[in-house]
Amino acid sequence: MAKGLNRVPVREQEPKVRATNFDEVCLGYNKDEAVEEAQRCLGCKNAKCITGCPVNINIPAFIAQVKEGNFEEAYKIIGESSALPAVCGRVCPQESQCEGKCVRGIKGDAVSIGKLERFVADWAKENGIKPVPAAEKNGHKIAVIGSGPAGLTCAGDLAKLGYDVTIFEALHKAGGVLSYGIPEFRLPKTIVQKEIDTLKDLGVEFVLNFVVGRSETIDELFGDGFEAIFVGSGAGLPTFIGVPGENANGVYSANEYLTRINLMKAYKENSDTPIYHAKKVAVVGGGNVAMDAARCAKRMGAEEVYIVYRRSEKELPARLEEIHHAKEEGVVFKFLTAPLEVLSDENFNVTGLKCQQMELGEPDASGRRRPIPVEGSEFVLDLDCVIAAIGTSPNPLIRHTTPGLDTNRKGCIVADDEHGITSKDGVFAGGDAVTGAATVILAMGAGKRAAAAMDEYIKNKNK
Ligand code: FAD
Ligand code: SF4
Repeated sequence: MAKGLNRVPVREQEPKVRATNFDEVCLGYNKDEAVEEAQRCLGCKNAKCITGCPVNINIPAFIAQVKEGNFEEAYKIIGESSALPAVCGRVCPQESQCEGKCVRGIKGDAVSIGKLERFVADWAKENGIKPVPAAEKNGHKIAVIGSGPAGLTCAGDLAKLGYDVTIFEALHKAGGVLSYGIPEFRLPKTIVQKEIDTLKDLGVEFVLNFVVGRSETIDELFGDGFEAIFVGSGAGLPTFIGVPGENANGVYSANEYLTRINLMKAYKENSDTPIYHAKKVAVVGGGNVAMDAARCAKRMGAEEVYIVYRRSEKELPARLEEIHHAKEEGVVFKFLTAPLEVLSDENFNVTGLKCQQMELGEPDASGRRRPIPVEGSEFVLDLDCVIAAIGTSPNPLIRHTTPGLDTNRKGCIVADDEHGITSKDGVFAGGDAVTGAATVILAMGAGKRAAAAMDEYIKNKNK
């Protein structure tokens, strides 16, 4: 029995090879590796890992089934709490969630919960195992705005209860950030498509190229006979750096850069989406979005790629795995560095980024130590492209076209965390549209809780 302090290593593409292709970096566990890793789980009675999971998956129970080779049973246990296990197993920040709480991590490596979840989900897909079938249709119509993890989870749970669910999506492809943001090499789009197909099997209808607030407003959707509406429209509006010169040619928001590459497949030779094939790129920011943009830039042929981050490595908000992979692929980290100005030539093309060295002072409101400029420390990075990855907020369209829907000063919809109830009767909301940019699993959790509350709402209304 493997009871070692170290987890079973996961197979990955070689850094030098993968930095030139968009194929998945992590190859996941095979059956034997999964069973071996599952044996490291102590099956704790008071399992701390469950408290670390935002949707409370019964982790020891599913791992116990993996240990025995009962992968279908393991899949059913995960499916009771999570609608998108193949996605979460790949992109959740496990080190700060379930694995961060695992007792095995006190002395040695935490159990590789994420990789086991991914294995089970992939095994189920390969073996054609279907999740719980939908109940008989109950004749009630529900609209879901946005097809990211919040909307997909909410729609799936409501369809299983028998509701007639229609998802309205602004883009031509469903999936939200899973499709347009997170790159193929971290989350293959066939995986996302399979999750969408599962919802279609449950009877969920997808209406694409439909911008709520333009194509129709929320009040018009109520007029079409939808009895309740879930808003899961995300936080897709990029924030720019706010330094002089950032209108120059060769400055992208990470959202635009990643959308062109992931959604519009600009990395393929036959793609008709234009993208600048930069040679020297700086990505400003330190989250998952910044890592994705930097690693994409490498794969698009850049020779030098920098992450410019104003705090230290300790404060980097990205997943550890992404940071590790970015380093292995040759991305250079400029810590304690803040951008001051985008420099450009007479044709307004980017030539560099003037930066300043920082040091850390006292903690600020976020609890992290505040970066303070070091006088006389300015320097210039020679570049031909700058990518801003310093955050996003919700697009204002829905709040501008929905009277009675309260939003806060950051433009997020105000909704209670427990049920997703908003200030407007019949309208529920969750995910990044409510919290601002967060994580896949938190968006899923919000979609799940809102689905239960919407079911309650419709039952009460029709009593
Ligand atoms: P979204 O996924 O943003 O989906 C919202 C959907 O609503 C979109 O499809 C949008 O087109 C649609 N929409 C918007 N307005 C309208 C409208 N008016 N009408 C109709 N449709 C509309 N999280 C992790 O946990 N791990 C990661 O590794 C990770 N990496 C990330 C990498 C990138 C590049 C980005 C951008 C985010 C990443 N995140 C990650 C964050 C995570 O993806 C989001 O928190 C999550 O997708 C939010 O889900 P959501 O359903 O609320 O919104
Ligand atoms: Fe297994 Fe770790 Fe959870 Fe204990 S805390 S049940 S060892 S995964």
